[in-house]
Amino acid sequence: MAEIQLRNIGKRWGSFIGVDNFDLKIADKEFLVLLGPSGCGKTTTMRMIAGLEDASEGDILIDGLRVNEMEPKDRDVAMVFQSYALYPNMNVYENIRFPLKVRGVDPNIHDEKVRRASAMVELDDFLHRKPAELSGGQRQRVALARAIVREPNVFLMDEPLSNLDAKLRVSTRAQIKNLSHELAVTTIYVTHDQIEAMTLADRVVIMKQGVVQQVGSPVEIYDSPANAFVASFIGNPAMNLMDGDMSGGTFRAQHVDVPGLSAPDGKVTLGFRAEDANVVEIGGQINAPIYTMELLGDATMVSVRIGGALVSVKADKSYRAEIGEIVSINVAPEHFHLFDQKSGARIG
Ligand code: ATP
Repeated sequence: MAEIQLRNIGKRWGSFIGVDNFDLKIADKEFLVLLGPSGCGKTTTMRMIAGLEDASEGDILIDGLRVNEMEPKDRDVAMVFQSYALYPNMNVYENIRFPLKVRGVDPNIHDEKVRRASAMVELDDFLHRKPAELSGGQRQRVALARAIVREPNVFLMDEPLSNLDAKLRVSTRAQIKNLSHELAVTTIYVTHDQIEAMTLADRVVIMKQGVVQQVGSPVEIYDSPANAFVASFIGNPAMNLMDGDMSGGTFRAQHVDVPGLSAPDGKVTLGFRAEDANVVEIGGQINAPIYTMELLGDATMVSVRIGGALVSVKADKSYRAEIGEIVSINVAPEHFHLFDQKSGARIG
């Protein structure tokens, strides 16, 4: 079992703060995803847990034991990186076996362990090939098998799918999800891809500039983003956000008039998701000229511009109109999200 506790950990380089006050308990067998834009501190957080980077402050506990001063090799964590660094002169079998040799595992059980790990990632037929004779996806699976074979208490995965093409990403993602279920190992997974985060995670941690913005299940984060940054980061397309003025319960911006909201007067950002809105004949809260239309196959995405922002609604796939024509968009009041324009914090 492995419960990980991060007690207000931080990383500084001189006056630059890479990670600030990260405080979280990760449950045994949990699949936790760290999500955020490039440079937000995801990898640094992971490297501190692995012991590849010293924490400037705070405590890292694995099963209640403080590991800050413990060598990486003694922490019983296995890492899988985006660049999978296989040994080019060793075949797949030897690559997977390597961690067992290094750790002094009884040679009599190597074969059984290597075969079990390679079967899990469906590499049984490739054991004699060298890395150069494999596809990118197969190489990534060797890296996974090499982590699995160690039977660690914790998996740390840093963008393990980022070098794969779109199709392979989807199938390897499914494989990782299945493996994590089968192996029941605490997993921390870093990505900047929100779809990966939403599909894999028990809980997602969203970070921005070293600071945790929200921790929650994918559904919680999707339904109730804590601030405008989280709202703009989750969902495909991202949540529509419009700046405007709230007065007497009515939100107004150019082309937009939404009565019946409960929020104090002032400058606010109003949000809603494309899938929570409808194109109507007349009387929607947004009435604006069509800026662009995209056929998605199962729907037509209709977009207008409000202020500088693109605001999109998913219309029926048979919907047809001309660019420049006025479209009326209706959103049920319960689907609106309200954020303070200055701080971005959720206010309704
Ligand atoms: P990416 O998705 O691009 O990998 P990330 O969220 O993993 O980004 P980190 O690699 O954790 O980001 O970096 C966090 C911040 O710390 C970045 O601004 C980075 O430039 C900075 N940083 C990382 N390593 C060092 C270092 N050794 N010295 C100074 N600053 C560093």
